Amino acid sequence: MHKLTLKELSAQLQSRKISAAELATRFLDRIEASDLNAFLHVDRELTLAQARAADARLAGNDAGPLTGIPIAHKDIFVTRGWRTTAGSKMLENYVSPFDATVVEQFNAAGTVTLGKLNCDEFAMGSGNENSHYGPVRNPWDKTAVPGGSSGGSAAAVAARLAPAATATDTGGSIRQPASLCGVTGIKPTYGSVSRFGMIAFASSLDQGGPIAKTAEDCGLLLNAMTGFDERDSTSLQRPKEDFNRSLGDSLQGLRIGVPKEFFGAGLASDVEQAVRAALAEFEKLGATLVDISLPKTELSIPVYYVIAPAEASSNLSRFDGVRYGHRAADYKDLADMYKKSRAEGFGDEVKRRILVGSYVLSHGYYDAYYLQAQKIRRLIAQDFQNALEGPNRQCDVIMGPVSPTVAWDLGDKTDDPVANYLADIFTLSTSLAGLPGMSIPCGFGQGEKNAKRPVGLQIIGNYFDEARLLNVAHQFQQATDWHLREPA
Ligand code: GLN
Repeated sequence: MHKLTLKELSAQLQSRKISAAELATRFLDRIEASDLNAFLHVDRELTLAQARAADARLAGNDAGPLTGIPIAHKDIFVTRGWRTTAGSKMLENYVSPFDATVVEQFNAAGTVTLGKLNCDEFAMGSGNENSHYGPVRNPWDKTAVPGGSSGGSAAAVAARLAPAATATDTGGSIRQPASLCGVTGIKPTYGSVSRFGMIAFASSLDQGGPIAKTAEDCGLLLNAMTGFDERDSTSLQRPKEDFNRSLGDSLQGLRIGVPKEFFGAGLASDVEQAVRAALAEFEKLGATLVDISLPKTELSIPVYYVIAPAEASSNLSRFDGVRYGHRAADYKDLADMYKKSRAEGFGDEVKRRILVGSYVLSHGYYDAYYLQAQKIRRLIAQDFQNALEGPNRQCDVIMGPVSPTVAWDLGDKTDDPVANYLADIFTLSTSLAGLPGMSIPCGFGQGEKNAKRPVGLQIIGNYFDEARLLNVAHQFQQATDWHLREPA
């Protein structure tokens, strides 16, 4: 049962072959037996109450495709009744009085919440080692990181502890853990998924999305989680669409842009080989490969690591020990209370970002760093538009690696923040441009250590081209079985 896709599970639920309560129980048992540290909060009673409500809907005439489907939420989406920590000590005992829009949407669709998933503190990280509640282990190799910041989401789906999970991506946090755990994830066009109730990291970049086993399942989840929300000032007003409407289209004539900057010196040879083999598979499916250039790719690291901390330093000012969150026990006066509460509540990486962000926004440095970064951000977006847009466009989609290496060992990069930042080289530019991007499993590393560590293929498209991306991924998943491989 835990091996089935959402589509298959949905059929079983609709035909009453299995009840939502039975299904939820199976997954709760698997979660209880697991040692990955993927879940931060599990509450059988809450889950089973929701499952019974779903069963009532399934018995009546009120069920949709996701009714009764178990799902787990990244602990960055606030949830009524469940604690929401964002992986931080700051929010250790925080229970939100309302649900995030995404959670509301899934509840309305009748999904059953299995629990809240571990993540890097305030979604800052690439290995899920920045969680106050300890790292998540990669189910393929428990000595390796699962990727971050949505490491709990990717590990839970890979280990079949949940058939699907929500996640968020600010600079790669859906695609990179999906890649390192061998599952499928998509970050849609910025503005598609409401940020209301998604604890803010960098608001101009943060975007929610799903992680699941297949592209088709991701489409089903996107159908539920997208849509205009007046409570999010950057929410897009667009007609509802069926993200799976293009599944089945032929890839004959599809032009795949292969950016030379994604295959440079920093790319591990085993990752390159798996990605090139996937590209060859697409050629067999009728696509043609086109060499393209995204010349500003390299600049995405300094640009992102100015803009994201700048926005984070502003967003995280709300954690002051007064309104909510951790408050120091002893303090002299108000300023001392702020200082001690924040010093105790935030972890090292979060403090580092607040310091960098405050610095680049301060008088005298704003023009030199922040404004400059914004200008280059526009040029990075322009690189993509030159390839994907207009009468001279070169390709329909862009493909390359997600991560320059397979998952690294736990502890390997914890002393070196810059090493972590460099691992984001292939995901940041898409986020800065606001474009949709996905990761699908396409192979494994090589050598004794890496042979069991998955490789992900990144597929990037133009704004609002999610339906095409999902079909491109779907056709690959019809022709190959990487997405069905499971950790031992
Ligand atoms: N690894 C990047 C960072 O640390 C991206 C994180 C994310 O997408 N949330 O900021």
